[in-house]
Amino acid sequence: MREITHKLAFENAQATTRFSDVFDPNNGTVQARVTLGDKALLDAAVQAAKQAQPAWAAVNPQRRARVMFNFKALVEQHMDELAHMLSSEHGKVIADAKGDIQRGLEVIEFCCGIPHVLKGEFTQGAGPGIDVYSFRQPLGIGVGITPFNFPAMIPLWMSGVAIATGNAFILKPSERDPSVPVRLAELFQEAGLPEGILQVVQGDKEMVDAILDHPDIAAVSFVGSSDIAHYVYKRGVDAGKRVQAMGGAKNHGIVMPDADLDQVVSDLAGAAFGSAGERCMALPVVVPVGEKTAIALREKLIPAIHALRVGVSTDSEAHYGPVVNAAHKAKVESYIQMGVDEGAELVIDGRGFMLQGHEQGFFIGPSLFDRVTTKMRTYQEEIFGPVLQIVRAETFEEALELPSQHQYGNGVALFTRNGHAAREFAARVNVGMVGINVPIPVPVAYHTFGGWKRSAFGDTNQHGMEGVKFWTKVKTVTQRWPDGGASADSAFVIPTMG
Ligand code: NAD
Repeated sequence: MREITHKLAFENAQATTRFSDVFDPNNGTVQARVTLGDKALLDAAVQAAKQAQPAWAAVNPQRRARVMFNFKALVEQHMDELAHMLSSEHGKVIADAKGDIQRGLEVIEFCCGIPHVLKGEFTQGAGPGIDVYSFRQPLGIGVGITPFNFPAMIPLWMSGVAIATGNAFILKPSERDPSVPVRLAELFQEAGLPEGILQVVQGDKEMVDAILDHPDIAAVSFVGSSDIAHYVYKRGVDAGKRVQAMGGAKNHGIVMPDADLDQVVSDLAGAAFGSAGERCMALPVVVPVGEKTAIALREKLIPAIHALRVGVSTDSEAHYGPVVNAAHKAKVESYIQMGVDEGAELVIDGRGFMLQGHEQGFFIGPSLFDRVTTKMRTYQEEIFGPVLQIVRAETFEEALELPSQHQYGNGVALFTRNGHAAREFAARVNVGMVGINVPIPVPVAYHTFGGWKRSAFGDTNQHGMEGVKFWTKVKTVTQRWPDGGASADSAFVIPTMG
């Protein structure tokens, strides 16, 4: 059996006793097993990081940025290899796997400009003969704990900014698709990153707990489901760490009566079913405003959903591939049954879908529910599969309340031709990332990514300047250079600028 293991700065002499299966979701077979590390392995990785980090922090930012430039070129050269590797463990189609890598690479492009953003602030003459300046220093050792659904993009969100700002970084990727993170770490090393600055430790809860309790780890960035995010946030903060923990989502698409319905249906098909719905910025809830909109939208959605092609992840014609594993498939299908039991109307049932020649693959056909209500658990919870739910609203105000009141607040989209309604919506909706006629409003790398409510714990977003803030601490220096004529009056009162 092929074994996927860690990427460490030292020879790992420890005998591994625990493993986790890595599936081929297209066929439902086990294709490899991943080594699960423990506290002792983490300790050794932290020691290596500790030794390497001061010298890396002392490297001037332009040279650190050059490693980012080299890495970008290497990932571009290896794009096909990485996309196939990613798709074979995750199940997303190749074009989408390339998108996963590319969105991560865009954060690396942002990091190529890190000298500019680390310039700091300076005030000359803040007092008599006094100058004040502030600058950002790295935290030391940071860790990223990442989910299965973006095995390239999310590790790069974190590692790029952490490393470019002078930290050593340890990545704990998802045990469900662990190969791409290791390959990315190899390419970073080839790009000139010193040994010990980026390591990958594989593992599950045991490793996560060891990370959260480790006294030498200064910061933890987590992305995954909300209950685990909350747990990671609380335990990490209790241990005195800086923690950002992004969680689950239930993004709504509000369709106003004046929206271009053909465009909406085309956008919804991709946003609800792309990557088999396994995206935290997927659009699994659509809210038509008014009865006429609901009827017209439903009429157009049904044939569009029937036209979706579900196929193996290497099928270039497929719109989406299998979900990640059998347990996840069973979970999504149980939510479909729950929706039926709760009284929603199952318009299209994706259960029981089978692909010839891949009968054991983790495929689920697309499903559509209508007349879903806020009281239903299938509305309140994240399904994370190829299931679209229609929740009907009478008015704009009622539609605005739905995402605003929901426990999650990651993304939301409004489809309209009315600029006033769009402006009002963007200002008032209680959600972190808003799309106006944009179904998946994932901000570009030099802006910042983060949801609200149970979609994110902590107060700093991913990448852009928020990422730089997360991975650095500010030092402020107040200085004067007296000319030798000492003043006799000691100050016993707090100095003011009055
Ligand atoms: P997950 O919570 O199961 O796993 C995330 C990480 O936590 C993994 O590295 C895993 O090994 C670890 N983990 C799992 N169980 C743990 C436990 N009991 N204790 C400690 N650590 C544990 O999430 P997933 O299924 O890999 O990813 C899908 C979830 O991630 C969805 O909820 C999705 O919405 C969310 N997500 C959110 C964002 C965002 O930015 N808000 C982005 C992508 C995915």
